[in-house]
Formats: sequence, C-alpha cells, structure tokens
Amino acid sequence: MVLADRVCKNFGTLQVLKGISLEVRRGEVLCLIGPSGSGKSTFLRCVNHLEIVNAGRLYVDGDLIGYRERGGKLHEMSPREAALQRRDIGMVFQHFNLFPHRTALENVIEAPTQVKKQSKDKAVARAKDLLDRVGLADKADTYPAQLSGGQQQRVAIARALAMDPKLMLFDEPTSALDPELVGEVLGVMRELAASGMTMLVVTHEMGFAREVADQLVFMDGGVVMEKGDPREMLADPQHERTKSFLSKLL
Ligand code: ATP
Ligand code: MG
Repeated sequence: MVLADRVCKNFGTLQVLKGISLEVRRGEVLCLIGPSGSGKSTFLRCVNHLEIVNAGRLYVDGDLIGYRERGGKLHEMSPREAALQRRDIGMVFQHFNLFPHRTALENVIEAPTQVKKQSKDKAVARAKDLLDRVGLADKADTYPAQLSGGQQQRVAIARALAMDPKLMLFDEPTSALDPELVGEVLGVMRELAASGMTMLVVTHEMGFAREVADQLVFMDGGVVMEKGDPREMLADPQHERTKSFLSKLL
C-alpha cells in the first residue's frame, strides 16, 4: 500500500530525509518512532503529498506520489492532481485541527459534501455511523470547544474516515492529550487496525506498537536506523542508538 524507495527530502540545504526505504502492505500497521527532528512528520507529509520528495520514489497503492511519468521523465504534479491523490489518504494530527465553529457532525460531513459532492443526507447518515463507531454518537451536535481532547481527536479520526481512505496516517495522535485520555484514542485506533485499515503511525506509545503494529521503524537523522517486528525490536534492539532511544522512553 505504501512503498518508499530511497526517499530524500531537503529544505534548502537541510537534508531531512536521507533515503528512506520501507513498505507497508495492505492491512498492516507500521509504527514510526525516533527523536525529535529525525524527520518523522516530514516523511508522513511526503506520503500525504503535503511535501514533495526531492529524490527517490514514494508510491501509495501503486500510484507514484507527487510526480507524473511522461516520456521516461518525471514531472511534478499540479496542485489539482495532488489534491486528488490526497483524497484517498486520511491524516490525523497531534493537534486535532477541527473546524471550531462547526459541530462534531458538521466537521465529519465537511469533506464528503464539499470535496466528494455527496448528498447531505447520505453524508449525515454516514457521519452518524462514524461518530457511533468512535463512541461519540451523543456528541454529534457538540462544538469542539465543549469536547475533551480525547473526544476531539476521535472526531478527527471519524472525519478522516468519512472520506473512505485506503490509508490512514497518524502523527503523534495522543501526545497532546492528558494521560487519562490517551487510552480512548488508542482504543479507537486499535479497532481500526483490527478492521483491516492500513496505518502508518508516528507514536511513542510503545504498548500500542507492541500489541498492534506489524512493523516498528526507528528513524534517526533522516535515515531508518532499525526496523523489524515490534516485539523483537523492543525486547532486543540491535543498534546502540535504538537502545538508548528506547531506554529514555520506557
Ligand atoms: P518531532 O518528534 O519533534 O515531531 P519529527 O521527527 O517529526 O520531530 P520533522 O518535523 O519531520 O521531525 O522535522 C525534521 C527536520 O526538518 C527538523 O530539523 C525541522 O526543523 C525541519 N523542517 C521541517 N519542516 C520544515 C520546513 N517546512 N521548512 C524547513 N525546515 C523544516
Ligand atoms: Mg513530528
């Protein structure tokens, strides 16, 4: 579903991604960990076409992200083409980024009605199902400011799911939450994984990684330092850098 082949990204002279290769198969969950500044968010943003890679190739569901191949040459996509690619990829951020002047339900129907031109009735019915799925059936008419952080994040997940994404990206979805609210969001993500969703998750919740992820990737300084089975890697990290990073987390 996601294939990264030696992906490089620079901001000016700053090399942030220095050849990232990894693969997430359909239905798999990959957890990405690494120190601050190692390029985790930048990588997710490249997958979601919010940044354009400078070298290497990135595919989502077989589609080359960001470029069109014509006559053996790569041409950068137009913003319109990029937006079309992004439609099938859901993203959940650390700060929930809900529309503050819209209720939970209105947040969830926004993209399906505006981008996919779904009928309002259809979008509302689906949004209610999704809010029910994330445990917020009774909060449909509530505004974000009246919701806890964990509830807002669950609305954000429902909102992303409303576009029927084939891939979900999560960038530290629980790190802005009070500890007692982390579990409810991880619970929703766990169920999503069990339902077969393909997920790429930046998180430092190692319990989640251990129990839910099929692969764990440790990034440092823009490279993949180590990757493997989460249980094996957490029990017996091979690199000194991984060891020292994990020892600070646990
Ligand atoms: P954190 O754990 O703090 O979220 P991260 O691993 O997600 O870190 P990134 O946000 O990907 O790290 O940032 C990697 C590097 O790229 C940092 O040095 C950052 O300052 C730089 N960077 C990110 N976005 C930009 C940008 N738009 N312009 C210039 N530099 C950027
Ligand atoms: Mg980040």
